[in-house]
Amino acid sequence: MTPPTTIHPGAGRPLAKTTPAHGIVIANGTVVTMNRERQLVADGAVLIKGDRIAAIGKAADLLAANPGAEFVDATGCLVTPGFVDAHNHPAHFLSKGLLDDVETGRRWATRLYPFDTKIGPDECYWGSMGTFAEMIRNGTTCFADPGGFYPEETIRAAERIGIRGVVTRSITDIHDAGRPTPDALMGSPAEIVDGMKRLYGEHHGGAEGRIRVWMGLRTVMATSDELCRAVRDAAELLGVGIHAHLAINPLETQQCLRKWGARPVERYRRLGLLGPNFLAVHMGAADLSEVELLAGLDVKIGHCPSASMLGAFGCISHGHFPEMIAAGMTVGLGSDAAAISRFLDLVRVMYLAACAHKDVHYDAEIMGAHKAFEMATIDGARALLWDDAIGSLETGKLADITIVECSGLEWHPRPAFNPVANLVYSSSGAAVRSVMINGRFVMRDRRLLTLEEDELRAATSRAAADAVRLAGLPEEQRWPVI
Ligand SMILES: [Zn+2]
Repeated sequence: MTPPTTIHPGAGRPLAKTTPAHGIVIANGTVVTMNRERQLVADGAVLIKGDRIAAIGKAADLLAANPGAEFVDATGCLVTPGFVDAHNHPAHFLSKGLLDDVETGRRWATRLYPFDTKIGPDECYWGSMGTFAEMIRNGTTCFADPGGFYPEETIRAAERIGIRGVVTRSITDIHDAGRPTPDALMGSPAEIVDGMKRLYGEHHGGAEGRIRVWMGLRTVMATSDELCRAVRDAAELLGVGIHAHLAINPLETQQCLRKWGARPVERYRRLGLLGPNFLAVHMGAADLSEVELLAGLDVKIGHCPSASMLGAFGCISHGHFPEMIAAGMTVGLGSDAAAISRFLDLVRVMYLAACAHKDVHYDAEIMGAHKAFEMATIDGARALLWDDAIGSLETGKLADITIVECSGLEWHPRPAFNPVANLVYSSSGAAVRSVMINGRFVMRDRRLLTLEEDELRAATSRAAADAVRLAGLPEEQRWPVI
């Protein structure tokens, strides 16, 4: 194996440039289309030509009509849209295991922000690569990054592994004692927005259309009014979204009231930020009147139940996500980060989204597996303003496809009976067999095709050790190891 220190980040097998001339037919599985009628096609097939879905129908029909196409047997499988992870910090893969069970304020001030602000480009690259590999292995085909400090490295990792994603930079211009960030990583609003316009110019639409560049706002306490207005105007000029953490917890609400004289949602409303292109993430501290306001403005929501539960954000017990959905809002699902969700398996995130709110409300019908699956596919795509091309399996859409094996005992005795519920409630991302993005397989029969897992393990281990050293993070063993 090549020693990891000699690996050039751009190295590795390139993605195949073209799909087979006569296309690919994924056939004999149950196709979960996520079209408007939510149709499932038993003994179904998807025909892929180039990067797009050319047809969906019965396997017998599509196989007969396309004898020259490459046949991919999906017998006993679900064929679903690739999952959309609407909020994840890719570089945080390297801090996995170092943030467990640490009080929120201390976690941000002494672990997460030192990590985020002191790692370098190489750590960002390999952290992102680890995140994307874990995502793909669990069926995720599209991510949305709220911004690290080396977005070019995250983009480079995404280009190489073949995933689709929305990227921004960590955008912040004023100090927040709870989230220490050096001056060198901030800058004036004009400098920040100029840098974002450059990033957009160089990478938006890159990697054969798989990469989109958005604007972002890291947190409400670390962004000046001037920066917020500049970000708003730049997003409008470029026609992109704004990805922001908002209404994270009651402490942030109190701080915002003290400093700006308004709750976080109200502050951003006054600044003219809130609209259909605004993706507000966490939102556990938004009250019902704010939900009504946000619904009227068509603001998109990112819900991260696993991060909230491990990280004590309060989104489950105090948030109003079922009410947002009842109000017609678009709510996508996010894993947030490898260190605070501890897994990037969106099927497990779906389970939490489907179940946790039932418990809070003593109501088994308030949420469910099918809504959670919508959140992880078409609703997530809508939250990223990309539902015209991804999030469902329909003719003409991009071919982002996850093939899920249903042969495990946990799927029985009725694997094909309401299979989406079987996936969300009984299975996990470990059942994902193959993943296609933009018409090309990036994982086939559980083997990643665009990089070697041994290389990834070696490189992420080395980069994680470098990150710990650079950030000065403690590595504590909770129980004595003898
Ligand atoms: Zn986040």
